[in-house]
Amino acid sequence: MPIEICTIGGYSETGGNSTAIKIDDEVIILDMGLHMENYIRHTEDEDISAMHYNELLDVKAVPNYSLIKEWKSKVIAIVPSHGHLDHIGAIPFAAGIFPKAPVICTPYTAEILKSIFKDEKIKIPNDLIALNLNSIYKLSNKVSVELVNITHSIPQASMIVLHTPYGKIVYANDYKFDRQPTLGKKPNFARLKEVGEEGVTLLIVESLYAHEHRKTPSESVAKEMLKDVMLGVYTDGKGMIVTTFSSHLARLKSIIELGKKLNRKIVFLGRSLSKYVSAGERINLIDFQKDIQLVKYNDKREKVLNKIMKEGKEKYLIVCTGHQGEPKAVLSRLAKGELPFKFSNGDVVIFSCSVIPVELNKDNRNKLENALKAKGARIFKDIHMSGHAAREDHRDLIELVKPKHIIPSHGSKEKGKHIVELAKEMGYADKNLHLMEDGKRIILK
Ligand SMILES: [Zn+2]
Repeated sequence: MPIEICTIGGYSETGGNSTAIKIDDEVIILDMGLHMENYIRHTEDEDISAMHYNELLDVKAVPNYSLIKEWKSKVIAIVPSHGHLDHIGAIPFAAGIFPKAPVICTPYTAEILKSIFKDEKIKIPNDLIALNLNSIYKLSNKVSVELVNITHSIPQASMIVLHTPYGKIVYANDYKFDRQPTLGKKPNFARLKEVGEEGVTLLIVESLYAHEHRKTPSESVAKEMLKDVMLGVYTDGKGMIVTTFSSHLARLKSIIELGKKLNRKIVFLGRSLSKYVSAGERINLIDFQKDIQLVKYNDKREKVLNKIMKEGKEKYLIVCTGHQGEPKAVLSRLAKGELPFKFSNGDVVIFSCSVIPVELNKDNRNKLENALKAKGARIFKDIHMSGHAAREDHRDLIELVKPKHIIPSHGSKEKGKHIVELAKEMGYADKNLHLMEDGKRIILK
């Protein structure tokens, strides 16, 4: 069968997601992501706009496209599944290798890309095409791409379906099945079922939490957890700070709702919060600024903090960047006393996130928490539910789309083997289950 797959990145370790799929003589690249840890380590204090692909490749921060050197002229599209940087972050540096291939993604993902290009003064030669969820785009006479609505931890995440003469290819990297989302629609189960009935040759599916024997709880559960802390802890007269992923607009929406219930004025501080919220507002996904003050520029930040200290921080809810303890983000700078804000005993700091389990983040978070504790802050951690599917979600997905072949993605073989184990439990034979590594190829038979 003339489908060949090159698993370029994200198959030997977590990050730098990218997969090339060759259908006869045409190639589609799914995701073009950064390896975040390597990227952050390398780009600290550097001007990103001056950075070249080869420099980032040397430090393994971007996927290695020399692996598909002889496919270069055949690439007809680059399709990122959603707006997380481990899926789109290499586009500014690598899309130009394939200048004729348009980048096709949902409108929110496109807005994020546009703001990265603008902020970093980067231009790419490729067309950028915003394709609405649940619609199909014809890439050539043989191949079409469809973006099916799915839930994750960022708006407008998609499950990519490639329509080929040799059956469909479903790319589920990243997703969870959330029947009670707090922003956006439920996953399009009806369409996934239909796709399954039309015939799926291959499912590429994330394996990050495939080892967890459960269903990943809904975002509405995370909202309840937040409510339990924000409304359930004695905070009269105290400062309250919440931090979460800047692109997690559903979570931010819950935080705003709860802040309003507390009658606190809500202030968003930090560059990346401003970027993701503004992108969402530009395409009318959200309308946060009727309820919050979004501080876009660093020079305004000090002014706003001075005002908060003067009026009384118990009247405010500060939502800021720095949930992973990033040293330059707002929360670390507040904790270090670099900004005009003073902690008092009993001020509340809520981490509505998990710690991404890499050494850099664990280190940074430790330092931040110690600094906050030294100032007398009360810390609430892990007020969070993941956006990644667990084993029982994967079972539902496999049941729905009934793929002939399965390739686990988003992590090492160690993670992927849990998908293989699940599929075998569901009756799959070894010959249809393929544990890949970065840079490997497979022809489907
Ligand atoms: Zn993601």
